[in-house]
Formats: sequence, C-alpha cells, structure tokens
Amino acid sequence: MKIIRCADELRRELKEQAGKSIGLVPTMGFLHAGHISLVNASRENTDLTVVSVFVNPTQFGPNEDFDSYPRDEARDAELLMAAGADIMFVPTVSEIYPEGNSTDIVLTSGIKTKLCAKTRPTHFDGVTNVVARLLCLVKPDKAFFGRKDAQQLAIITRMTRDMLIGTQIVGCPIVREQDGLAMSSRNTYLSESERVSALSISRSIKTAAEDIEKGKALASVRDGVSSEISASGGRVDYVEIVDPGTLEEIDDGGAGFGGDYLLAVAAYFGKTRLIDNIARIDGKCI
Ligand code: AMP
Repeated sequence: MKIIRCADELRRELKEQAGKSIGLVPTMGFLHAGHISLVNASRENTDLTVVSVFVNPTQFGPNEDFDSYPRDEARDAELLMAAGADIMFVPTVSEIYPEGNSTDIVLTSGIKTKLCAKTRPTHFDGVTNVVARLLCLVKPDKAFFGRKDAQQLAIITRMTRDMLIGTQIVGCPIVREQDGLAMSSRNTYLSESERVSALSISRSIKTAAEDIEKGKALASVRDGVSSEISASGGRVDYVEIVDPGTLEEIDDGGAGFGGDYLLAVAAYFGKTRLIDNIARIDGKCI
C-alpha cells in the first residue's frame, strides 16, 4: 500500500495505473470495521482502492469536536494495509483547500435542511465540498459510503448526479457491534454507562421496523423510539420517518405505511451525539 500526501503525487500515481477501475472510500480516519467493510466492497468491485483519511475542518461547526476528533494515522495505515487497500491518501488541509480557495459547491435542494442539518446547519456544505474535491481528484468509477450516514449518502448521490461527475455512488450496510451499537469513531467518547444507555437506539429502531411491518401508525412508531431513548437517559435530537431519497417526512395519515422509508435517529448520550437508522429500500429492510 502506498501512503500519499500530495494531490499531485496521487494524480501521477493514478495515471501510472491507467486502465484499472478505481474505487474511492472517503473517511475521517480512526478506522473501525464499518470503514473496513467499505474497503472490502471497493476491493470486490474495482481494481484499485483509494482510501482517503482526512478530518475535514469545513464539516465541523464552531463548537463541534474538530480539535478533539480521534486521530491515529499509524493504526489506520496498519488496518488499511491488512484490508488490502492500494493507496492511503492523507492530505493536509491546504492540499484539499488550496490557499485562497474561493470556489465552493452550494447545495440548493431542501435535502440539506432536514434531519441532522437542523442542529448542524453547515455540516453538509462541508461534506459536499470535500467529497466533490476528492471525486475531482481521484475520478473514481465507484465511491463507497456507509448507510449509517444516510443523509450524507442521499446528498452525495444527488450532488454527483447534479454535477455530472459520473462516479457511481454505492451505499453499504451499517456495521454494528455484537450488541447492536452502530460502529462510529465517536463511540470512543462514551463512558461505560453512556455506552449501555446508547444501546436503546439500535434496540428501539429494530422494534420500530418490526412495528412498521405490522402496519403500526408512523407517529406512534416514532413516539416509541423517542420514549425508549429518553427512558435510557439519552437526549433525543430527532426521530423521523422520511422518504429515503428526498428525506421528506412521510405522512401515513395514521394508517401505517407499506412503501420504502428511512427511520433516522440522532440522540445525545452525555456530550456525544450519535446517529443511527433503519430503512426499507426497494422493499427490503436494511
Ligand atoms: P467517517 O470516517 O465517520 O466520516 O466515515 C467514513 C465512511 O464510513 C462514511 O461513508 C460512513 O458512512 C462510513 N461508516 C461509518 N461508520 C459506519 C458503520 N458503522 N457501518 C458502515 N459504514 C460506516
């Protein structure tokens, strides 16, 4: 595996590998099995896998955890080597946002104002801009994103289509700990008791999906998730059941819902904000 830090060097390397199909896995590092599942998907579907490790400052709000976000480049490199990644791209901020950067992509659709955007209003502009730059640089055939960040996946899918980038955006399943907690680099912030409380998220959304299958009214399904998280000591940011593509709230008129949906949750345990979701996509529960 090559470790590359400069955009120019990455461009040169990819030119030398011309003819191979390229997979890109964008990450912020501090890797876990969720990230590695994306690397595996890329290896299975493309000839050459590039993994970027970049804690992107523009997607953090002023009072968020950019400085304290966990970082361990040496460990990440070991994990990526073991997983069979071909290139680990570890740029500095100025490689991604050249000095005097004066070009940004601005999302215009309502999709960026929903779910997480209500508490993180600038987050998705940052995500869109870093991913757009990585796609321009790497020009991958396919780029792999986790369904855990469902709103990110929906936004990147749109942006890639709108900007005629041509990369296929592939959504990959959520990887969970054995007890159900969705893997996240931020889980390291949780105390032992917060981590136990946080299991209420995965537990309650699993029950919710079963209830939706049985035809329960969505408002009552949402309330069930909220109550279980609050009872465990979590502070609910939102529980919403939305269209997986537009993220518009689904109104079932109290009659239950048989179509595709995304049930998305964000909640705080102590100071740590966790997100998770469950969905029915193309008729399948994932
Ligand atoms: P991050 O490093 O948190 O920015 O995540 C990088 C990529 O890994 C994103 O596409 C995430 O959706 C994905 N990812 C993070 N956690 C998981 C997980 N538990 N299962 C699957 N994908 C994940």
